[in-house]
Amino acid sequence: MSKLIIVSNRLPVTINRKRGELMYFPSAGGLATGLNSLDDNLNRKWVGWPGKSIKEDWERESIRNDLKGDGLVPVFLTNTEIENFYGGFSNKVIWPHFHYFTQYTDYTHDAYWKAYVKVNRKFAKEVTPLIEDGDTVWVHDYQLMLLPGMIRETHPNVAIGFFLHIPFPSYEIFRILPWREKILQGVLGSDLIGFHTFGYMRHFLSAAYRIGGFEHQFGRMEIAGRKVNVDVYPMGIDYEKYAFHDPDKTDDSVQAIMNISKGLRLVLSVDRLDYTKGIPQRIRAIGRFLASHPEYTRQVSFVMLVVPSRDSVDQYQELKHEVETLVGEVNGLHGTFDWTPIKYFYRSLSFGSLNALYQRSDVALITPLRDGMNLVAKEYIASKERSKRGVLILSEMAGAANELTDAITVNPQDSEEMVKALDQALSMTVEEQEMRLTKMQNRLRKYDVSNWAAAFMKDLKKLTMPTNGKKANLIDQAVVDRMIEDYSKSKNRLIMLDYDGTLMGFQADPQAVSPDDELLELMEVLAKAEGNTLIFNSGRDHLTLEKWLGHLGTDMAAEHGVWQRRNGKWQQAAGMTNQWKERVMEVLDGMVERTPGSFIEEKEYSLAWHYRKADKELGAKRVREFREVLSYLTSNLDLQVLEGHKVVEIKNAGVNKGKAAATWVAENDFDFAITIGDDHTDEDIFKAMPDGAYTIKVGEGATEAKYQVANVDSVRKLLTKLAASDKVQVG
Ligand code: UDP
Repeated sequence: MSKLIIVSNRLPVTINRKRGELMYFPSAGGLATGLNSLDDNLNRKWVGWPGKSIKEDWERESIRNDLKGDGLVPVFLTNTEIENFYGGFSNKVIWPHFHYFTQYTDYTHDAYWKAYVKVNRKFAKEVTPLIEDGDTVWVHDYQLMLLPGMIRETHPNVAIGFFLHIPFPSYEIFRILPWREKILQGVLGSDLIGFHTFGYMRHFLSAAYRIGGFEHQFGRMEIAGRKVNVDVYPMGIDYEKYAFHDPDKTDDSVQAIMNISKGLRLVLSVDRLDYTKGIPQRIRAIGRFLASHPEYTRQVSFVMLVVPSRDSVDQYQELKHEVETLVGEVNGLHGTFDWTPIKYFYRSLSFGSLNALYQRSDVALITPLRDGMNLVAKEYIASKERSKRGVLILSEMAGAANELTDAITVNPQDSEEMVKALDQALSMTVEEQEMRLTKMQNRLRKYDVSNWAAAFMKDLKKLTMPTNGKKANLIDQAVVDRMIEDYSKSKNRLIMLDYDGTLMGFQADPQAVSPDDELLELMEVLAKAEGNTLIFNSGRDHLTLEKWLGHLGTDMAAEHGVWQRRNGKWQQAAGMTNQWKERVMEVLDGMVERTPGSFIEEKEYSLAWHYRKADKELGAKRVREFREVLSYLTSNLDLQVLEGHKVVEIKNAGVNKGKAAATWVAENDFDFAITIGDDHTDEDIFKAMPDGAYTIKVGEGATEAKYQVANVDSVRKLLTKLAASDKVQVG
């Protein structure tokens, strides 16, 4: 039976030592609740840190055994790892950065990044041995952004999902991170990437495009032959748990909460102590409210529950001090001898007490400066299921604001607006309260946390079902075997290869893509083998091809067939002119001027405008704009415009790679032919090949080729196999 492997920084249990003995406490977080409700739950593993540093090997083994029965797999971290990976890179780099607090991002500690890579590797080492055919891996959150890529290295076919529980910042912020490519690559190892809001998804896609060059259509990308989907899954809560909880009448502290500030209207806020939560801004707004609305004196009580968090990080200590000073100031200024406006608590509460507090509160004032989702807002709404009394004031910067559109939304930096919102909330009629609550409750009831987990899993499975994942003509082992057999048996073989995107990957600077030693060795073997005619058929200029590959002594076609090298001599195709270049150059110059980073490559009989280094969206826009101008010019001048990967090429009509290919095909009686190419321009070669030829396209997309392979790596592997089969024969 296939299984689901969940991976998160923390396991859903915490280990504690009491009188020397280990105790296990399950943590009933929302995530655990959602995941526990999944169908796959019967056969599930959960990999994560158990929340305590355990040094001794024997003790680690004993914990491993204790947890095994529940399908929990611990990842043990040393104290230094906890400090640098969790406290460091996760909470002093990604957390502030992704919440737009770049002033708190620590870019300087190399040890943080190193630990992040190391610990993600450690997680990969625990996860990969668990994976069997048909399994699904679901990785959670910002501590493990490299993990999907690491798992993909060893398990190219396993289904991997990734969900980010915090915001994904705009490209302008994300690009500041020195580790941006690696983080992006790590996440893109997944098949499905989920975010709480469309805004985060948009930012992620923009970063993937601008940094990695990955284009998308409606959130779908193609990366090295794999499909990657990005989508929105707003996380819900365990609705029933909050909606139908009865406060425990026998519990004194619950009763104390139900009776808190009796006779007064109660405005509640609940947050972890975190600079993202906007606590100081909120206290200032409360001060301003009390100053401008004296009619509420002795009428309201502001209960602020601040839950201790990350207290080893300096900023949190400073924040605590700031919050406590501000509370003191507001109470000192606005309080009376029989009334303290802000009741401040620095502690965490049990579920029962928290729920009692939700139920008792007339207004929830939740105003984070930035928050991935904010579950407190949803829990508050749910807790009003039966009473239908209560008003939510919610920051528009919280992910939850996208769904809770019937809350009073505020900009948390705008204290004037918050003052107005408080007044509006405290004077709202019960009819309006009920109407707004009902709408929000209907949504939260339906899209609860079980629904969230199920929707994500359903999409992940759909995306990675074997029938969907595999292209009909993706080359398979049987074809490769047949090809090798045909190759070994044949005496007169044609091997025609495109260069860029087929033998070498793309880089921003085309001149930087000179062949590496591994490629040259492989080409040498293929070129020298008896009976082989190896031909490079490229869009490159002939001088570059000569410089890079000339020593192999093979025939070549350059500039999409404008030049051909036969028996060591370069010749031009007949009827070529280049008087047109000057006029077209003017147009291309205009494109370069208006598209920073783009440049013109001048070849003898053609001109190419490259925009690989330019802003990708701007480049694409320019191509659209200039297509018309160019097609007008070229039709007058008997030219053709070829659009390739981030390049537009203009050259004489009537020559192309296919015409060049046809001359070799016509001159010889090949008994085996293989050709591989990745671009639109290679389609002409596929068409020119003799019947029975192995025509192979690199990457996905419609093609004339019979087969497709994923990427440059697969091309090289395939050619290596062919070369090796020949050696065996000869030997
Ligand atoms: N919470 C809690 N005990 C408390 C106060 C809050 O368990 O004393 C819970 C609360 O019910 C909510 C979570 O902490 O589920 C806070 O989640 P949220 O998304 O609001 O903020 P985060 O802390 O994840 O930034």
